[in-house]
Amino acid sequence: MLIGIDLGTTNSLAAVFRDGAPQLVPNALGHVLTPSAVSAGDGDAMIVGLAARERLSTHPLRTATAFKRWMGTDHLVQLGDRSFRPEELSALVLRSLKADAESFLGEPVHEAVITVPAYFNQAQRQATKTAGELAGLRVERLLNEPTAAGLAYGLQERSDHSTFLVVDLGGGTFDVSVLEYFDGVVQVRASAGDTRLGGEDFAGVLERLFVQRSELPPSEAIRRSGALWRVAEQAKRELSDRHEALMRLVHEERVYEATVTRADFEQAAGELVQRLRRPIERALMDARLQAGELGEVVLVGGATRMPIVRQTIARLFQRLPLRTINPDETIARGAAIQAALKSRDAAVDEIVLTDVMPYSLGVIVSERINGRQVSDRFSPIIERNNPVPISRVGNYCSVADNQRVLKLDIRQGESPIGSENLHLGLLEIELTPKPAGEADVDVRFTYDANGLLVVDVRETSTGRTVNTVIRQNDALDETQVRDALARLEALKVHPRDEQRNRYLLERAKRLYEERLGDERAAIQHWIGQFELALDSQDRRVVDEAAEQFEKALASLDHGFVY
Ligand code: ADP
Ligand code: MG
Repeated sequence: MLIGIDLGTTNSLAAVFRDGAPQLVPNALGHVLTPSAVSAGDGDAMIVGLAARERLSTHPLRTATAFKRWMGTDHLVQLGDRSFRPEELSALVLRSLKADAESFLGEPVHEAVITVPAYFNQAQRQATKTAGELAGLRVERLLNEPTAAGLAYGLQERSDHSTFLVVDLGGGTFDVSVLEYFDGVVQVRASAGDTRLGGEDFAGVLERLFVQRSELPPSEAIRRSGALWRVAEQAKRELSDRHEALMRLVHEERVYEATVTRADFEQAAGELVQRLRRPIERALMDARLQAGELGEVVLVGGATRMPIVRQTIARLFQRLPLRTINPDETIARGAAIQAALKSRDAAVDEIVLTDVMPYSLGVIVSERINGRQVSDRFSPIIERNNPVPISRVGNYCSVADNQRVLKLDIRQGESPIGSENLHLGLLEIELTPKPAGEADVDVRFTYDANGLLVVDVRETSTGRTVNTVIRQNDALDETQVRDALARLEALKVHPRDEQRNRYLLERAKRLYEERLGDERAAIQHWIGQFELALDSQDRRVVDEAAEQFEKALASLDHGFVY
């Protein structure tokens, strides 16, 4: 059975195509969203999903979230005394989804279509594939997230309009893509975004509003406990449906309260809302399109549930965007549709955006402006959204008389200020001494589909050359994959039927840490009662106790799906 998976930064979910439509797979807690969170428990035990998300407050050093940001890099994530590669953590999430799908379908699952952001490069795509492999899934196909969104809305079947814009505001990232469909082929024409803008930032705005209004003392302990974030997150969700939310936090036996209206929130979030515009304008410009030429604008990502986000997009385009499907479920549905098309051999073909270099690549230079030398300018050699492989040359000259060396600081990014772009490498070449401006070099950048950037520098007068290869990825080789598999096999992931109990206990512990006094005593008592029930090992007793436990916890806080 082939399933579709949206492996998200904040939440992941699986969907299957059954009875002619995509169906979302519920996890062991009955939720369709599984937080992309992993926590190291005692010994070899690993905790995944909502229970792990709860441990972010109680065991911050043993818990990881947002590891999708590290995919395709060698960054190791430390959980307690062990470290993990990002693809290993993703594999644990995928395994959990695989087990949920198997339980839902009643049959083994070995293959998946997994979605990735359109801007993911080869290294990030390869890491996603490896994560699948480590989870025991053959990755039948990696599908671009915006393409999946388009499939979920059936855009490929429309003949009237062929160009669409997908706006995806998730927990921590904002992605905008322009898609073009023709003859069953979809092409990502342009993609832009802000990797540091998402629903989390909006919760941050509410945290600050609450602190101001409730006069909650600034305390490291509160911040660390995550209690403030939780209050803010809850209010943010309420404000998507209502015009007012009461925010309430108990700290050292004092109650702090503040009422926030939607208008307050939207005003305070004004700067974040402004930041939505630029990537949209950029994507349209790169695709050489006017807003009016778009067939449809599609909203995905949980954070587009915020009315202000929808309104801003609607105003920008002078029309209502499509959002009839739950925005946090759209991509998984699209992945399941792709899976179904695949098994029927009627796949929608995709021209993958890896064929495009999503960032500009260049060097830092100093420039003469109005007779003065200005340093730290960015000079792009390969501009973003160009098809790869690509090779381009820039010509640069000395700025001082008898300059002996030319230092090239190679950067990736879109800022005019050189140092604000990502540093990729350094290269030096000796120059033949000449008057300023007369010694010159050709700098050739060659970028290929594997994420390899070759920089060749040649002094034009002598033909002297130097070069360097900048590798953006370090994919695991076969032996490393085998080792990682063995390592993961040795970990004990909680069996599916115990996940709910695990979650309840983690949630209770988190609440215990947050609260004081009578509430603490009550929580302690509930935990004791629940542990007694667990000891009975009687399924019915445990289930009944779990239900009561959950109700009791719910009387103290909202347990929401992240
Ligand atoms: P990702 O793509 O990062 O995995 P999602 O698409 O699941 O993330 O979006 C997660 C974000 O959506 C979170 O910041 C969450 O707070 C936000 N979100 C979910 N539901 C709502 C809601 N009802 N109102 C406002 N924001 C919401
Ligand atoms: Mg997403």
